[in-house]
Amino acid sequence: PSRTIGFIGLGHMGGPMAANLVKAGHRVLGFDLVPELLATATGNGVEAAGSATAAVTAADVVLTMLPAGRHVLGLYQDGGLLAAARPGTLFVDCSTIDVADARTAHDAAVAAGMRALDAPVSGGVPGAEAATLTFMAGGAPAEFAEAEPLLAAMGRKAVHCGGAGAGQAAKICNNMILGVSMIAVSEAFVLGERLGLSHQALFDVASTASGQCWALTVNCPVPGPVPTSPANRDYTPGFAAPLMAKDLGLAANAVREHGVPAQLGLAAAQLYADYAAGAGARQDFSGIVRTLRDAATAP
Ligand code: NAD
Repeated sequence: PSRTIGFIGLGHMGGPMAANLVKAGHRVLGFDLVPELLATATGNGVEAAGSATAAVTAADVVLTMLPAGRHVLGLYQDGGLLAAARPGTLFVDCSTIDVADARTAHDAAVAAGMRALDAPVSGGVPGAEAATLTFMAGGAPAEFAEAEPLLAAMGRKAVHCGGAGAGQAAKICNNMILGVSMIAVSEAFVLGERLGLSHQALFDVASTASGQCWALTVNCPVPGPVPTSPANRDYTPGFAAPLMAKDLGLAANAVREHGVPAQLGLAAAQLYADYAAGAGARQDFSGIVRTLRDAATAP
């Protein structure tokens, strides 16, 4: 059935996601602080709201796709979204934010008489445009069931990971695996270079042996073995290094808060923070292999 959706945050991800909800037959009332983004969304069939609160007063479901936790909490609370929506409205936050912030947002929504789900995504802008995102959701089963048809209009897969915050937890744990494994693969290629091993030979062995992983077989950090990987186009993203740095920063916060001895995860967070602040500012996250290669000292 067609639903009325308030959609706040029409940026790189939210813009195409909102457009896909319109395509699926839903009424979408959208808002973004940037007028140009609101205009683009209107061209895709989104109804422009005059403010964030105006976008949610008539909504059955409120979707947010914002930069960070402070934006989500700011809008929910100080921005008045929770006060403006009808009682019982389902608030689905698709932004990638701190697990602790997601739980705070959930509690605030429930305290205001609303219902809540955290549902961050992976798949990037191409996935948002093609409606092939993966959603990882945290919240009660009934809330997940209600959101599922909307998530299906924007993505290919939705996994219910558990209670409040579990979607964010799954997202940062997955990306911690990815950040660490990309560094491991990159270190192995640089070591192989020093040992006189060709990229193709290492790839042919590791991709079919126990070193196999996505960072190697899909997003291979050296050009050649996987022609579609960003390394073959001078590391044009892809998954931009600053976004990886952001996600690893969220993982590092959780690691410290919960006293987990995740040395590799913390090291990856630091390496990506440095890379994203310098040479990697506009590069795919696999470009970190160049930093590692450049830092290698002469034998
Ligand atoms: P973006 O910066 O392009 O979009 C965020 C939008 O929120 C902006 O257009 C901004 O104007 C708007 N906004 C901020 N505060 C607002 C407010 N108070 N009211 C209305 N609008 C407001 O970012 P993005 O790339 O679309 O990412 C959004 C979220 O998705 C982030 O949390 C990011 O980590 C996550 N994410 C991004 C990607 C990606 O590849 N870009 C992939 C997975 C997850």
